[in-house]
Amino acid sequence: MLAETPVGLDEIIYTFGSLDTPDFEARYIVPFDLPYPLFYEGNKVSRSRCHYLIVENFQKAFQDIRTAGLQDQVRNYAGIYDRRPIRGQNAHPSTHSWGIAIDLEPEKYPLGSSKRFSDEVVQIFENAGFFYGGDFKSRKDPMHFQFCKGY
Ligand SMILES: [Zn+2]
Repeated sequence: MLAETPVGLDEIIYTFGSLDTPDFEARYIVPFDLPYPLFYEGNKVSRSRCHYLIVENFQKAFQDIRTAGLQDQVRNYAGIYDRRPIRGQNAHPSTHSWGIAIDLEPEKYPLGSSKRFSDEVVQIFENAGFFYGGDFKSRKDPMHFQFCKGY
């Protein structure tokens, strides 16, 4: 499990690799078991894929959600790894491109809305090293948690 959350793009690249790395996906992205099943577009999923360095961080977050009995608040999932720019900012890769961000409950917490997950859920992700997109300074992204700050 990674203890330090990178701050800013340079530290993200230093920690997780350059997106220009040949075969980035084959080198860095690995499957892992979810501690409890989620639903992706209505289909039950028990595995996902992320950057190999933070498999345990994702597993800790979901394990702690299950232990706290908060699964009903975190049930629908919209992906981790995805090579794409930040929506509306084509020059800037999304943190999903490194496999270090997850979108959850996208219909309840749409991009740009001021709705947010309960403090308990946010705290659990923060304890596992994630930064909450609902706390972005400019455009809020309350479905989104990422393993970096300042980007
Ligand atoms: Zn996201």
